[in-house]
Amino acid sequence: MTSPSYGSTLPWAEPSWYTGRPSPYYKESHRRLRDAVRKWCDEHIAPYTDEWVEAGAVPPSVYHECAKAGLLVPIASGKAIPKEWSHYPIIAGIKPEEWDGFHDFVLWDELIRGGGAASLFIGLTVGAPPLLKFANKKLQNKFFPEILSGEKRICLAVTEPAAGSDVRNITTTAERTSDGKHYIVNGEKKWITNGMFSDYFMTAVRTGGPGAEGISMLLIPRSEGLRTRPLPVITGPLSATTYVTFEDVKVPVEYLIGQEGHGFRQTMVNFNHERLWVAFQAIRGCRIALHDAFQWALKREAFDKKLIEQPVVRNKFANAGRQVEALQAWTEQIVYELEHLSDADGARLLGGTTALLKVEAGMVCKYVAEECLKIMGGLGLTKTGQGARIEAFYRSVPSFTVPGGSEDVLLDLGVREALKLHRQAEKAQSKL
Ligand SMILES: Cc1cc2nc3c(=O)[nH]c(=O)nc-3n(C[C@H](O)[C@H](O)[C@H](O)COP(=O)(O)OP(=O)(O)OC[C@H]3O[C@@H](n4cnc5c(N)ncnc54)[C@H](O)[C@@H]3O)c2cc1C
Repeated sequence: MTSPSYGSTLPWAEPSWYTGRPSPYYKESHRRLRDAVRKWCDEHIAPYTDEWVEAGAVPPSVYHECAKAGLLVPIASGKAIPKEWSHYPIIAGIKPEEWDGFHDFVLWDELIRGGGAASLFIGLTVGAPPLLKFANKKLQNKFFPEILSGEKRICLAVTEPAAGSDVRNITTTAERTSDGKHYIVNGEKKWITNGMFSDYFMTAVRTGGPGAEGISMLLIPRSEGLRTRPLPVITGPLSATTYVTFEDVKVPVEYLIGQEGHGFRQTMVNFNHERLWVAFQAIRGCRIALHDAFQWALKREAFDKKLIEQPVVRNKFANAGRQVEALQAWTEQIVYELEHLSDADGARLLGGTTALLKVEAGMVCKYVAEECLKIMGGLGLTKTGQGARIEAFYRSVPSFTVPGGSEDVLLDLGVREALKLHRQAEKAQSKL
């Protein structure tokens, strides 16, 4: 028995389980979440997105509405919501113990479909997990109430002007004061998403000597000596990409995340969810583009035929559709594995795989954006009207291929990690 289809019935515009086909992964709470997020975005976000883009920012009151609607708690936690957070609202009335990685996927899928709100949560998505995974309870109890209520916002500050892919070489320093009570932070961070409106900066700093072992993670509140300025990027202003300068910023030593010297490892673990999350966004971006291109191809006539009647056009849809469905299936497989592995095993086994998944997501986006843009003709280059979402998606493709790990770097990482696992397995077998 299948349930009725939900959303658009155009080919590949929705995941196959939306069309009522069976799936081992999704249950009633996933459907409930999907419906609630879609309804909420349609009411609160989609009608205002153009206005916000024009104004260059989303009004702060919208973030408070997001908190009230129960969006911040699941976004801050990703795949598992701590039981202690049960007093905060969670969208669709999902209970913390019900929440799993597929809820995370569904939530992001619908947020991306829903318009301009998604860019508000990027800092929270990548900046909150180190606090949740690696900080002590005292720090969590101090900062999470403000973060989860929407009163304060957080972002992740790792990249510097001279160290991006090469995180080991960051130079922002955090030196202890002679009384041992504070760190004094000096340095610069570049391309920090949501930095302009953040109150807390989850920052990779150098507390020790050169290399990975000298790096720590420090939660730095916006305070004297911390300055931010906007950095305009290709995808527009809503994600508030920022240049951050630290000049003798005084930070209590208690704001260290975990132990000194653990910051590099914490950054790498954090990347795994970030890369999976990029795939979530890429898939819905592709589906939106396919939806709009199909609508156009079914009505536009050229050379006395509808575009869809041209085999060349159908060939583009076929190639796009098969790639999006393969990406969806691989993503679901990884979400399932993460759900059933311990955190430690997930990080050990899936670091390379999530790196390659992110690369694949970027490559599928490149193909789909390019082909859908061509199907739209001049409309695909036009910022308003029927091609507007495809024009915006085409522009956003580099944001799938560079941030969170550049394509070339991740391809190489994927192979090195796969070989590491092979050698570990070979060693284990030889002991049998
Ligand atoms: C819009 C946007 C948002 C971002 N948001 C954040 C954020 O919130 N927080 C944050 O900390 N950072 C953020 N970043 C930074 C992002 O993670 C880095 O830009 C990215 O890691 C690449 O680093 P880089 O720009 O210094 O490029 P580089 O490291 O200088 O690399 C440039 C290019 O050289 C090549 N290359 C480099 N090393 C290798 C190698 N080992 N093997 C093969 N090829 C290689 C690759 O082609 C790579 O693209 C953001 C960036 C952008 C553009």
